Formats: sequence, structure tokens, C-alpha cells
Amino acid sequence: MLLSVNDLQVRFDTQDGAVSAVNGVSFGLAQGETLAIVGESGSGKSQTAFACLGLLARNGRAAGSVRWDGAEILNLPERALNRIRAREIAVIFQDPMTSLNPYMTLGDQMAEVLVLHKGAARREALDEAARMLDAVRIPEARARLRQYPHELSGGMRQRVMIAMALLCRPRLLIADEPTTALDVTVQAQIMALLADIREEFGTALILITHDLGIVAGAAERMLVMYGGQVMEEGTTEAVFARPLHPYTEGLLAAVPRLDRVEAELRAIPGDPPNMADLGAGCPFAPRCERAMEICRREMPPLDGTDRRRACHLSEEVFA
Ligand code: SF4
Repeated sequence: MLLSVNDLQVRFDTQDGAVSAVNGVSFGLAQGETLAIVGESGSGKSQTAFACLGLLARNGRAAGSVRWDGAEILNLPERALNRIRAREIAVIFQDPMTSLNPYMTLGDQMAEVLVLHKGAARREALDEAARMLDAVRIPEARARLRQYPHELSGGMRQRVMIAMALLCRPRLLIADEPTTALDVTVQAQIMALLADIREEFGTALILITHDLGIVAGAAERMLVMYGGQVMEEGTTEAVFARPLHPYTEGLLAAVPRLDRVEAELRAIPGDPPNMADLGAGCPFAPRCERAMEICRREMPPLDGTDRRRACHLSEEVFA
């Protein structure tokens, strides 16, 4: 396994007490594989990825195990993590404007990455930066190196972020809601671009999203999270064909479909759980139409191997 996460826990100390954002999450990722981590806001999907990379906010603490290429990396000293983050694992954030430096030209900030982390000479670094902008299909790549981020459209800025992330040829790319701020057409272009990059560079990808609409066709496997826990995991094909968890069912029913004529979009009733006070049972119980007495008392274990699920209902009840 390229990445193995075991029993990951993330807590944040707040003025109102400890908030458990991630509660015992485990999963693996093979070389070149794409895994989608899906769930509503606050489900713990982004914090899972940030904890793996030591990118939690100051009041956050992570426990458990994260092995990268066989070696433990959870809570490594900042310097060692910096080396991994720069050369092996890269992250693309939702809003490129928060990651791009508005005062530097694209050329300067892209070249800086290669000069700092690869010891490249500036001319060589600029050549590589232009090549990478070309690879993410930015027209007139060489001329763009002289532009500032504000001179580009949102979609172009996201392409630049992807190009920057790929500069050091990472083995894993983590894309945190990479298309949320973009319109549907540009969204489709960025997803197609990520697929091409995987093919071309053999990069593994973790796609973090609340939008199941972009997962089909983009990820081989998916992990559905709720209340900081894994509710279901399986191949994307199998989960889409037959979800085995009421929360996954609800998420899939909320995806707009062209082959269904409906007066309004379906939504899962109720609100996400209070992460400061999760209680003992299944965190989805207050919103689950099929909840039983036991669901409020006991959290079901996450059972299975290839297809994992945490639900007290038997598989047979799912059509
Ligand atoms: Fe619903 Fe119970 Fe399954 Fe939780 S364990 S999803 S409450 S049926």
C-alpha cells in the first residue's frame, strides 16, 4: 500500500470543550489508485486528509497511524513532513486564491517550488513551469509565466494550482473539493484533466468532495463518511449500483439526474451531528428513516473487506 491509515482520530480543543472531528478512520490507497472520500460538510473528510499531512489547525491533535510507503508519518516533526509534502504528496485546495501568492507572477512562484525543493537552476525551473502549464492545457504557457493570479479566470487558476502541485512529480495528489467554486462546464474540464494526469504521471489521487455527481467515472473506490466515521466503502461501481447504507442511499438520491423527472431535488432531512456531543450510537440515527432501538445505543462495527459498511441493518434489506 502507498498510504495506510489506521484508526485515525482527530480532536480539536475549543472553548466549549473537545470536538471529535475524525473517529477511528481506516483505509488504504494503492499506487496509482483514485479514492473518493465523500460526505456532507463537517463529516470529517478534509480533516482526515489534513491530519495525514500534518496540516491540522493549531488546536488540532491527531492519533492513530498513517503509514506512507511503509513508514509512519503521523505527527512527524515539521521538517520531515515538509519534505514529504513538497516531493511526495501534493494538495490542491478548493480556492486557488488562498494558495497562490497574489504578489508574485506565476513564473516566479512556480520556479520557486523547483528551486527550493529540487535545487533546480532558475532558467531550468521556468522551462519546467511552462511545460507543466502546457500539460494542464493552459494556452500560451510561456507568456502566462509573466502573469499574476488575478489576471486568470477561476478555472485557469485551478489549472495553475494543479500544475504547481505536479511540479515535483508527487506520487499522491490530494484534491480537496477541487471543483466546488467552478461552474459545471469548467468542473467537467478539471475532472477530465485530473483523469488525464493520473494516466500520464501514474499519480494516485484522493478526491475529497461532497458532490457525488463528480465521483462516478472519476474514482475507482469511494469512502462515505459521516460524523467523522466511515459509513461505507466499496468500488464506486458497486456503491452506485447498490448502496448498502441509508446515508449513502440518501446522498445518491440527492444527486440530480437527467433520467428522472422530479418536481424538486431530494435532500436528507435534518442536520449533521454535533461533533462535540456525538453520543454512543450511530451518528446518523437522528436522520435515518430506518433507525431502530439498537441504533441509538450502539455504534455498528465497520464490517467487511472489499465492501465495508457500518449499519445494524442486514444487507438484504437494501434493494
Ligand atoms: Fe440507520 Fe441504524 Fe444503520 Fe445507523 S445503524 S444507518 S441509524 S439503520
